[in-house]
Amino acid sequence: MRYLIAGNWKMNGSTASARDLAAAIAAQHAGAKADVVLCPPAPLLAAVGATLAGSTIRLGAQDCHFNEKGAHTGDISAWLLLDLGCTHVIVGHSERRADHGETDGQVKAKATAAMKAGLIPIVCVGETEAQREKGETAAVIARQVRGSLPDGASPETVVIAYEPVWAIGTGKTATTADIAAVHGQIQQLCGPKPPRILYGGSVKGSNAAAILATPGVSGALVGGASLDAADFWRIVEACPPVSA
Ligand code: PEP
Repeated sequence: MRYLIAGNWKMNGSTASARDLAAAIAAQHAGAKADVVLCPPAPLLAAVGATLAGSTIRLGAQDCHFNEKGAHTGDISAWLLLDLGCTHVIVGHSERRADHGETDGQVKAKATAAMKAGLIPIVCVGETEAQREKGETAAVIARQVRGSLPDGASPETVVIAYEPVWAIGTGKTATTADIAAVHGQIQQLCGPKPPRILYGGSVKGSNAAAILATPGVSGALVGGASLDAADFWRIVEACPPVSA
């Protein structure tokens, strides 16, 4: 399977700047070495989707509700995201787990709803710095993977992102040995046909090649560097070739 590079724009940009960034990224889509998904803030999905039309770059959202519709003020269903042209949705990002108290059960319900709607959920897991220092990384990852993945997850229907919380937006990255260990653990937890597992945490053009060549890594979830079209493309270009 091809590598996947997903850009998480978080709560950044305006309609005008998002259109400019999406256009600058889409301009280089021909012959991309990986599948590429851009995840702008929800109010900018339509504008970014229109800008990406005609390119191979896919549209993703940063969260969804687990119900199809109803009295959930301010929330967005996976079905609405599909209607807006999304193909992917990030669920269980550590910032949502921290800021909104999202539990593994809620993340699983969101991922399940995304799958039912026909979207590919990018399910995020990762330990905090305190958990790593206490030697709890493997236990936290096992609990999050078992608790957050939808039933019947397959490489075609789900993507996992391993994002050590202490590496997000900090400039710190895990060592390739640490990344390989956790990705290997997640693969084992998922059985013989594990989904693609992205690494996330301060990935940028200058460190992407080493991270993407690490065993068990099949792409990256990129925050800060996805706001710079040139650096984002350096990451895409760093993807190793994949045999069919
Ligand atoms: C993220 O938010 O998913 C992320 C990995 O951010 P950054 O690349 O900025 O660390």
